[in-house]
Amino acid sequence: MDVARGWNVTSSPQSLRTINPIQQITSKLDMKNVNKDKVMIPLSLGDPTVFGNMDTDDFLVESITKHAKTKRRNGYTTSPGFPDVRAKIAEKYKLPNHQQLTQEDVMLANGASGALDIVIAAIAGEGDNILLPIPSFPLYETLCCHRGIEPRFYQQVAEQDWQVDLQQLESQMDNRTKAILVNNPSNPCGSVWSQEHMKQIISIARNHCVPIIADEIYANMVFGGAKFTYFAEISDDVPIISINGIAKQYVVPGWRTGWLILYDKLNYLKELRDGLFRMTTLLLGPNTLSQAVIPDILDHDMSGFCNDLNKALESNAKFTCEKIKKIEGLTIFEPKGAFYTMVGIDVDRFSKSTQNVIFDDVSFSQELLKEESVFVLPGQCFKMKNYFRIVFCAPVDKLKEAYDRIESFCNKKLKLN
Ligand SMILES: *Cc1c(COP(=O)(O)O)cnc(C)c1O
Repeated sequence: MDVARGWNVTSSPQSLRTINPIQQITSKLDMKNVNKDKVMIPLSLGDPTVFGNMDTDDFLVESITKHAKTKRRNGYTTSPGFPDVRAKIAEKYKLPNHQQLTQEDVMLANGASGALDIVIAAIAGEGDNILLPIPSFPLYETLCCHRGIEPRFYQQVAEQDWQVDLQQLESQMDNRTKAILVNNPSNPCGSVWSQEHMKQIISIARNHCVPIIADEIYANMVFGGAKFTYFAEISDDVPIISINGIAKQYVVPGWRTGWLILYDKLNYLKELRDGLFRMTTLLLGPNTLSQAVIPDILDHDMSGFCNDLNKALESNAKFTCEKIKKIEGLTIFEPKGAFYTMVGIDVDRFSKSTQNVIFDDVSFSQELLKEESVFVLPGQCFKMKNYFRIVFCAPVDKLKEAYDRIESFCNKKLKLN
């Protein structure tokens, strides 16, 4: 026994390079430095259940209760999930140009997050790179860095409805690029791409023989005339790994159940399937009860629920745009999907009139918190300086209160009253 060595319990290198950008940035904020006279309004959490105004459908509650009562869904599943659940997903997510989808093309995971981890870990290794969007859902970078994969970033342009700067995207690619990851509709932008733009991205992937990982967790959550298209619908050759789940569409993020689907007509992902399967064996699939709910949802007509949710989101998005548009010093880019929007801060104006107290998005968020007890996430959480993200799921009276406070805050800081 090595008695001389003494106690030295440390954190591993891979745990220490596991960094959550939201925590990293918000740890710079003094969350105790809030205006105690005003009730805190958090517009920061990407979780629609926070305020109790957006809840799941009773059908899901009844379904999970029913499955619990049978006691038939309490055992382990095969590691990519229950075969009947995978088969049902394959049946329902078949697309006209991908009729051959089977359960072998579907793997369940611990949320869309778990599915992303499986794909990222299986497709790239140390020294490889994956292209990620800016602004970006922060988990992508966290997962890459944890696995020793280099995250490379491509820019989405606010003034062009958050479309990708295609030239810049292509300039990031080299022979170690293993995938292009896209997120449409987007968290944090609320943008929804046109088919035409998606085809341009597919064409770059085709030119470089690189698959697309499409995070489509906000599939069909669109409004204001926007039309949602799955990447796989318009790609017959470039393989698409579609990430989806029940968290956002059915308002149960805590149920931790998502999946990946391989749309790969030409079998380019043949070798990758082995890696994906091995990755599923690490955690043996998600919770069995929430897996069991999926076939019920997919066989049930959920369109009423989904339409109502979209209407509620649309109305909140409209309200948000109308209010923020009128505020001096801020620019809003109209959201068309999901439940987020990015707001631009005219940092030069704010820094001049505040003697440099507000000089970027982090200081803006801090001051807003301190004076108005409204919490928004600084754009730097998403690698986008001088913006902040709003989650517009809150009830409209809460949103109104928050936006009124933001307005009086900006007017005060810009010395407009
Ligand atoms: C919420 C979210 C996820 C994670 O979904 P889970 O199923 O809760 O893990 C993945 N991608 C994006 C862009 C999200 O906003």
